[in-house]
Amino acid sequence: MTEPLIQIRDVSKTYEAERPALADLNLDVQAGEAVAVLGKSGSGKSTLLNMIAGLDKPTRGTVAVAGLRVDEMSETASAKYRRERIGMVFQFFNLLDDLTAEDNVLLPAQLAGMSHGKARKRAAELLESLGVARHARAFPGRLSGGERQRVAVARALMNRPSLLLADEPTGALDSASADDVRTLLAELNRSGQTILLVTHDVALAEACATRTIELLDGRVLRDERMAVR
Ligand code: ADP
Ligand code: MG
Repeated sequence: MTEPLIQIRDVSKTYEAERPALADLNLDVQAGEAVAVLGKSGSGKSTLLNMIAGLDKPTRGTVAVAGLRVDEMSETASAKYRRERIGMVFQFFNLLDDLTAEDNVLLPAQLAGMSHGKARKRAAELLESLGVARHARAFPGRLSGGERQRVAVARALMNRPSLLLADEPTGALDSASADDVRTLLAELNRSGQTILLVTHDVALAEACATRTIELLDGRVLRDERMAVR
């Protein structure tokens, strides 16, 4: 087997509480997988995502993504890592309200120093392929939840991330928009994008995951690969 894209070894994370948020967790994810992390509230899903994104550090253990030791990065290195390797999608979109959809999508490329012409071309292609090209000049406040999430996905894909991370990406959507986003993530994975998402949404896991992991008390309770999707 090739080197896993994500390698998590014996990771524990303890906040002030005695009960650890993550407890001796081990996880390998191969490039091309779409992993849904399920588990009830407080089971450690967001903590796991934050460790992989380098937004928080383990108390013990190691986290490597694409051969990079995320747990050892300085803040500067970790910001660069997120900019270059990671796309993130959130429950509440986290779009900047005073930028147009297009300018939101352009932002990661600008931070990475991509030329303006190249960036605009890529942003236009992404907005088109995600079905929101006609909203390029609109401000997020004028868009529906489903449209905002499509713009947020376009932004996450702008710098061609090795890994797309999503925390409850359908959590704030009406059922039709949630269905849309499920289909969209499934298509992205079929075209080769590695995805790790955390969710309560079993339909999301069924629609787009090639593998489902269930956490309980910061441990992996269940880890199942889907036969065929
Ligand atoms: P989930 O996303 O599955 O709901 P979390 O990863 O958010 O779970 O939380 C796991 C546990 O860690 C919970 O008990 C939560 O209260 C605790 N926790 C998470 N983040 C923090 C933090 N920044 N400070 C203190 N405790 C936290
Ligand atoms: Mg959470």
